[in-house]
Amino acid sequence: MRVTFWGVRGSIPVPGSSTSAYGGNTSCIQVAVPGAPPLVLDCGTGARGLGRRLVLDHERRVDVLFTHFHMDHLFGFPFFGPIYSPNCQVGVTVPATNVEEAESKLARYLNGIYHPVKLRDVVATVHIEHVRPGRPFDRGAFRVEPVRLNHPGGSCGYRVEHGKRSVVYLTDTAPLSRLDEGISAGKPPPTAEARVLHAMRGADLVIMDTMFSFDEYLEKMTWGHAYPEYAVRLCEEAGVKRLALFHHSPEASDSELDVLGARWAPHAGLRVFLAREGDTVDLEG
Ligand SMILES: [Zn+2]
Ligand SMILES: [Zn+2]
Repeated sequence: MRVTFWGVRGSIPVPGSSTSAYGGNTSCIQVAVPGAPPLVLDCGTGARGLGRRLVLDHERRVDVLFTHFHMDHLFGFPFFGPIYSPNCQVGVTVPATNVEEAESKLARYLNGIYHPVKLRDVVATVHIEHVRPGRPFDRGAFRVEPVRLNHPGGSCGYRVEHGKRSVVYLTDTAPLSRLDEGISAGKPPPTAEARVLHAMRGADLVIMDTMFSFDEYLEKMTWGHAYPEYAVRLCEEAGVKRLALFHHSPEASDSELDVLGARWAPHAGLRVFLAREGDTVDLEG
């Protein structure tokens, strides 16, 4: 299983010389295994580059999973090449209570006003499905478990499995418990946190929203983003092998992210690193 980061930034794209090393594009991740259609996690602005790659590779089938529809996770979808490829089938999975709601969420954005092309006019065959947290499903070669996260308006995390390998994508989310309860307080996890820990169990790689420092989290607890110490604590509790810090703040420069990465690089046991646009992680087997 190969995981490629096409966009790692949170909230808004930040192109420029101070962000070029880690990348300024927003959330988009490709999960690939040999001989099967790729899975795409979110379509932030990183989806444009990924779409170009998939069109050049003549992919005939692509499956996109959305965590939620905040703009930084959706903005790249109208610029995602496969939807303009007549021979391509694009599966789109949206957290929603039913398929009509899922379709209307996407059609509201591709409606001729916010983007010139309407959803019904794209030339690829787009197949929309809805998903609810707690109800596992299959997409191509992958087994997927959706899990409810803690974010304004809701967000859905995904555990993606193929064979013995697994990657868990947890963005956007604040901690799943209060500071004085749950695992960060050394107490048993409340239900929401226990569900996320279950989704993370023994994963080869967890990619988690750590946009804030702990101090920023204390100032913005209702904004729906977590911090590295919490992600590390969750991963250690769940027996995870590697943690990619993700959804970097738009305010964070390359040099600031270098400092963050250097701080976590020596961490014993769990391997902690910063997601970087263009990087690939191979999960063996
Ligand atoms: Zn976001
Ligand atoms: Zn969000």
